Amino acid sequence: MSRTQDLAKVLPPLGQHGAPIGDAARAVLRLVLERPISVSTLIDIDARACPNCGESVDSARSPYCGTECREIAGFVRNVRSGLREGTLQDPDRQLALGQILWRILGGGLPYRNSLITEKDLARLFRKYDGLCVECGAPATTVDHIESRHCNRTGNLRPKCDACAETKPFGAQAVLNRPETQTLLDDLGPRIASEVPLRPCDDAETWDWRAYVAQRKE
Ligand SMILES: [Zn+2]
Ligand SMILES: [Zn+2]
Repeated sequence: MSRTQDLAKVLPPLGQHGAPIGDAARAVLRLVLERPISVSTLIDIDARACPNCGESVDSARSPYCGTECREIAGFVRNVRSGLREGTLQDPDRQLALGQILWRILGGGLPYRNSLITEKDLARLFRKYDGLCVECGAPATTVDHIESRHCNRTGNLRPKCDACAETKPFGAQAVLNRPETQTLLDDLGPRIASEVPLRPCDDAETWDWRAYVAQRKE
């Protein structure tokens, strides 16, 4: 039995109606743990390329082509070390990484949203006259302006359900996107593989400074 299958066994089912939001967040990890891994994604990458996606990059400061690749690579490393060291048995760690995966897949931050107080929500809606900042329809929810940041009201903006990036964990609207399937096809094998499939996939061996330094040679 592989580590990925072992972990999938202890996670709650995905898309279970009425599940507590923390369990729904943990279940998101199933998407990468249960991915069929017949496809090999071993690609030839040298230091002139983004170590996550293989696009050429000439930055002397960051190995990655952008913040999205940096975030994806960090997620892969954290899941791989969590599986190896056993720390991913911790439900809080599962929740944290499940939420990161959901954001990477374009579903926003529903768990963090659930922690916004009623008072802050009411104040925010009042400030924007209760309207969605995108389309002007009545606001029903909020999105984070800067995705890595916190629940300060300055980092939140009201949205209607249609315009909101934030979708419930397991929502078909996110799962059915072609980009979601492409990303999962990439991530599944990278997480399940014994050896790292990309230079940036193992925390022990990844040295981004050395990687960027090679770029100048
Ligand atoms: Zn990239
Ligand atoms: Zn709207």
